[in-house]
Amino acid sequence: MLLTDLLSTVQSYISRCACDLSLGKNEIEILKSPQRELQVSLPVRMDNGRTTMFQGFRVQYNSALGPTKGGIRFHLDQSLESVRALAALMTWKCALHDLPLGGAKGGVICNPKDMSTDETERLSRGFIRAIHYFVGPGKDVLAPDVNTNPQIMGWMMDEYSRLVGKNAFGIVTGKPIILGGSAGRLQATSLGGWYTIREAARSVGLELKNASVAIQGYGNVGYNAARLATSFDCRVLAVSDSKGGIISQKGLIAEDLNRKKQINGSLKGFPETTSISNQELLELNVDILIPAALEGVITSENAESIRARIVAEMANGPISQEADDILFSNGIHVIPDILCNGGGVIVSYFEMVQNLILQQWSEREVISLLNRKILSSYADVQNLSNASKVDMRQAAYMLSTKRLLAAIKMKGWV
Ligand code: NAD
Repeated sequence: MLLTDLLSTVQSYISRCACDLSLGKNEIEILKSPQRELQVSLPVRMDNGRTTMFQGFRVQYNSALGPTKGGIRFHLDQSLESVRALAALMTWKCALHDLPLGGAKGGVICNPKDMSTDETERLSRGFIRAIHYFVGPGKDVLAPDVNTNPQIMGWMMDEYSRLVGKNAFGIVTGKPIILGGSAGRLQATSLGGWYTIREAARSVGLELKNASVAIQGYGNVGYNAARLATSFDCRVLAVSDSKGGIISQKGLIAEDLNRKKQINGSLKGFPETTSISNQELLELNVDILIPAALEGVITSENAESIRARIVAEMANGPISQEADDILFSNGIHVIPDILCNGGGVIVSYFEMVQNLILQQWSEREVISLLNRKILSSYADVQNLSNASKVDMRQAAYMLSTKRLLAAIKMKGWV
């Protein structure tokens, strides 16, 4: 699936849901229209003394429920359309988890793997200078996503604070803890995802003890998903990153793999494992498949070959709409992205609250609140799915659309 297809996939979910909820033309139009979009060109001085121009984007999709919120992605494969699609997903995700936040997303077209730390810092600060009139605490709040991390969030927060002449913790979440970050944020997306997997396993009658797991992507979300698997009594058999995957029937130890990846830059060649491709990983006969890399990896071309009982979308948009229908008709339980990976934005919201009241909560407090919040969302979606006889994604979209529209109507926008 092309990145631009993600937008049509998201819009098709909105259309389906609009049909189920019998929405009018104006309501559908407002849901399908992004509110504000900014495209910027930013000059960055490279280590060789030359200046390179980078293209960046920020899309504020809908702010009916509150200030917009969403990550910043550093990746070559970016466009205004892909950022728009991810901003729409954020809007429905925040609504689903009943957060007082709208949805946004941003990105810069670049390959951070080819850039030095100094160049990455200059790019991060330059991006903030280019968009700072457009974003802000209480207005539009940034966060990490693919190829961005707490250090980058720290630079962005510092640059924004310099521009506005005061400390502005609230411009960014996912910051280092010493700079106003929240305990538990790094693992929040994966932990929240595992809480939803536990619920899904109950509903399909899968015993989690010794259940086998395959994970695509070994960055923040994929690594933490692998690390946390043992806390849920599961065994990770296969993992992959952009360079390919590995499998071991004996099971893999997440921390050992991570140490090797930090040193060698890839998972390949880990002792007592066999190499597999990313495609083979997706088609393994495992109990739980966790796509935790990029969008569009399960399409109509490979959906019939997926054999997992549960697919937990920790990545955003990993399954195309046609593939989603195939998985559903094959009895595979898909936990939709806006439900499954909502732990990240839930704890980001807790970080915003802590920043506002100048407090730092303990990891135990944050995790307990995350658990309560995501389980409540899961139960709402499961109940609606049972009552309306629709799949979990459709139920999730119906719930969040109702909330979003209620706010839109109370504001008098339609
Ligand atoms: P990351 O940059 O930390 O990691 C991305 C991983 O995906 C890397 O290991 C990379 O090698 C791998 N990858 C890239 N292209 C690949 C390919 N073609 N095949 C296999 N692996 C590939 O990013 P992340 O923060 O872990 O985000 C991963 C996904 O989770 C994204 O879809 C992101 O939008 C989503 N997400 C992240 C968060 C968060 O809190 N970070 C929250 C919600 C959703």
